[in-house]
Amino acid sequence: MNRFDYVRAGTVSEAVQAFGSGQNARFIAGGTNLVDLMKYNVEKPGRLIDITRLPLDAIEEHEGGLRVGALVTNATLAYDERIRSRYPLLSSAILAGASAQLRNAASTGGNLNQRTRCYYFYDEATPCNKREPGSGCPAIGGQNRIHAIFGTSEHCIATHPSDMCVALAALEATVNVAGPDGDRSIAFDDYHRLPGDAPEKDNTLKPGEIVVSIDLPARDYGQHHTYLKLRDRLSYAFALVSVAAALELDGQTIKTARLALGGVAHKPWRNKQAEALLEGKPANRESFAEAADLIVREAQPQSTNGFKVELARRAIVRGLEQAAAGTPQSLSDKRIQ
Ligand SMILES: Cc1cc2nc3c(=O)[nH]c(=O)nc-3n(C[C@H](O)[C@H](O)[C@H](O)COP(=O)(O)OP(=O)(O)OC[C@H]3O[C@@H](n4cnc5c(N)ncnc54)[C@H](O)[C@@H]3O)c2cc1C
Ligand code: SF4
Repeated sequence: MNRFDYVRAGTVSEAVQAFGSGQNARFIAGGTNLVDLMKYNVEKPGRLIDITRLPLDAIEEHEGGLRVGALVTNATLAYDERIRSRYPLLSSAILAGASAQLRNAASTGGNLNQRTRCYYFYDEATPCNKREPGSGCPAIGGQNRIHAIFGTSEHCIATHPSDMCVALAALEATVNVAGPDGDRSIAFDDYHRLPGDAPEKDNTLKPGEIVVSIDLPARDYGQHHTYLKLRDRLSYAFALVSVAAALELDGQTIKTARLALGGVAHKPWRNKQAEALLEGKPANRESFAEAADLIVREAQPQSTNGFKVELARRAIVRGLEQAAAGTPQSLSDKRIQ
């Protein structure tokens, strides 16, 4: 049993203050990831700061887009009428993840900050650079079927497991944070990081910083989008590969393309060169295949996940085709409703 303090914060500044320094503190929202990690002895906080009473549970109009509070649950966000009509890509991505019960408890801020699903990370009997910096990475050359094919390092090949974040990357959201040095906003692409030589850091939050909201920009890709998630089981499984595709079309010509992949890197994976390549091209299989080839050219598969390269290539083409045709992947919506 690891002993820890429990503090309930009433305001954002109380939460930031309670984080202090040297306490190995953690914020807790829905607890659907953090409590599991504590039970597995992976996370051993000295202080838990309960943030569930903070006034961060609203979805509001903001500069032509929407501002989503960090405590809005995944279920509330996915079913909000404004999200469903204006950002259906986000709604589909959320509904493709976890289960109805989990989505009722899980928060937006917690989803962003959930930790990898690497088997070794959860098993304290094995070394793991992310859990215990400098101890090694047994996934390299070990069981790495679910691991990354892009942006890996010699220290870690884990993936970020969120579905929601893949859609937020394609939508080019912004993360608003508060911390000991004040407030700041982080472009979604810069929020999560690649493992490099510090895989223990999943994101660019500084100690004591708390996510307060996420801004969705005015451009919503409401007409041409899809979230395609490929996994071992149809429900209750993390993505082997997922694709969030968003297009703006002028007739049959691509005006704007945004594409992010999940299940393949330490962060939602975007290739801006491929997005630029698509712009001005006809919205057809040939253009989509060209973009997919460009993206997977950079892939560096591990010993047992080479299949992900072809899976990603095909998923990109199919995701873009579905987006262009205006036929979003909506299996999960139907399953739940
Ligand atoms: C069985 C199972 C299946 C799942 N399947 C999927 C899936 O298919 N797809 C998917 O995307 N997810 C899946 N999830 C993960 C789930 O979405 C996350 O556990 C959930 O979103 C985390 O939110 P939470 O509020 O419960 O976070 P918590 O568990 O409370 O916190 C998670 C982390 O975020 C930090 N944190 C929380 N809020 C903030 C904040 N405002 N600012 C800064 N840090 C914060 C905490 O300190 C902690 O480190 C699954 C989970 C389980 C248990
Ligand atoms: S891939 Fe990363 S999380 Fe998994 S064992 Fe290696 S260092 Fe740990």
